[in-house]
Amino acid sequence: MQKSVAEIFQTRRDKRINDFSRKQQEVYSSIPGFSQLERDMNLARASKDEETLVRLVKEREQALTSAGFPNDYLESQFFCTVCEDTGNLEDGSECVCMKRARYQAAAKLSNMEKLCGENFESWDFSVMPEGDQRDGSKKLYSICEEYAECIPCGKLRNLVIVGGTGLGKSYALHAIGNRVLERGVSVRLINAPRFFAAEMERIRGGQDENAALYNVELLLIDDLGAEPANSSVAADSLFALFDHRTCEGRFTCAASNLSPGEIAQRYGARITSRLMDASCSKVLSLSGKDLRLTSRR
Ligand SMILES: [Zn+2]
Repeated sequence: MQKSVAEIFQTRRDKRINDFSRKQQEVYSSIPGFSQLERDMNLARASKDEETLVRLVKEREQALTSAGFPNDYLESQFFCTVCEDTGNLEDGSECVCMKRARYQAAAKLSNMEKLCGENFESWDFSVMPEGDQRDGSKKLYSICEEYAECIPCGKLRNLVIVGGTGLGKSYALHAIGNRVLERGVSVRLINAPRFFAAEMERIRGGQDENAALYNVELLLIDDLGAEPANSSVAADSLFALFDHRTCEGRFTCAASNLSPGEIAQRYGARITSRLMDASCSKVLSLSGKDLRLTSRR
């Protein structure tokens, strides 16, 4: 089970306290009089006796180093020195370490942990041949970025990207996912064969791996249509998923090698009407040659 961000911060604080107690015991048992020295220091500090305090601080350092300890052995070792592992800054805003922890936790849950490099910032138009295909890539970029920017408030709920293999559909999905994750919105990525394999598992009484897909704010489905075609389970499960998500106003972005007509034929009107309803959906058709065959790299 994955740790929550709060648990990660609690673990860091607990570790620091445990480490400190262990080191303190170690020092107390190897330097006689050390605990008395610290008590005297506290007294000097409380009575604002600077002169004595300075002398005792030096004595304490000497005691540590002559016993073979580093002189900062009993200093707190924070994971993050900026917020001292509280996750918050003095002005009440979040520390960058907290933002990073949140992003990492969300990326792990989203199945996108290893895909953080596939983002809008690294989107490279030059891998596409000049002309229609590069223009198509630019259009794809701008539509996808606008879609991602408007989640979770935008009117455009569904984006369906269709076209042959190697035109950058999966990359586009990952770029959308990463942009949305950065803003702290929940995302899940799944490919259609995996979705249907998990459905079969659930029907056989196994784990319901797909349960998390119903309420996630943004669902990314790659390779729609790559699952076995002859399954009525497939259509029923997909309908249940899209129907629920439509009612809840969630966002779904799918990529498919099938044409819009083939999608309609394969999944039927009830699914198509939810995924591709013109009032809240956009279908983007890409044309061109397989990037993996034409790429110069
Ligand atoms: Zn911090």
